[in-house]
Amino acid sequence: MHFHYSPDVAGSAIDESSYRAFSTIDNCDLTCGMYFRILHDETSGAMSYLLADLDTRDCVLLDPRGSDVPLLKAMLQEHQLHLCGLLRTHEHDALLPGESAALDALGAKRIQRVISVDASDKIACETSALMFGNELLRVIPTPGHTAGCVSYLWRDRLFCGDMLSVDACPHQPRPELPEALWDSATRHVFTLPGETLLFYGHAKQGRVVSNVLEQRHWHPWFGNTTRDEFLARVRLPRTEANASSMREATLSNHTP
Ligand SMILES: [Zn+2]
Repeated sequence: MHFHYSPDVAGSAIDESSYRAFSTIDNCDLTCGMYFRILHDETSGAMSYLLADLDTRDCVLLDPRGSDVPLLKAMLQEHQLHLCGLLRTHEHDALLPGESAALDALGAKRIQRVISVDASDKIACETSALMFGNELLRVIPTPGHTAGCVSYLWRDRLFCGDMLSVDACPHQPRPELPEALWDSATRHVFTLPGETLLFYGHAKQGRVVSNVLEQRHWHPWFGNTTRDEFLARVRLPRTEANASSMREATLSNHTP
């Protein structure tokens, strides 16, 4: 096993001012030859991720933001990485003019799934896979927050965008398809091994990572409730829904 050490960003060639709006968590993965990095935008709470295979220097970016392109380019250059693709769990490009064009400046193929809903309200769900370097990513359709949401499973980590943040996405405070969201969470996420780490699209209440076991039982919207109760709560006026959610979370946190 190799441990790859990365120099501290403050000592790198990257302009420190580029980091002003971010807190970054620099993590050379102890599992062979991987480099994993979290980018957190402190203004919006948005999370982006860099996954790199240090043996081949191939990498992907998960949910990159257009405004971060100069920083992302500098990171790629610093670590001499080849960007294979921009993976998006979902997008709100219609509300963010220029976002799509800004990401084009990274010069990599953009991968995102638009899942169509047919006349019988059946959502096409087909798991697929993609490779970067020697690493395999499973692409799991997880519609709900938006119709086209997907999650990416890499090793013991699932990058699920805003599907479990439910009310944390500033661009869409309510799920687009609540029924599909319930199914995605209960059938495709909570059925993963309990140890699976969950990385979200937005930080919530100071948290950026969780695991399946915890969220399966104690998620403030999905844990310890039924499908009908979840759907009723999602449709409540936002303040009532939030109060209900927080009440549940408080009760859950005190359940032995
Ligand atoms: Zn979102």
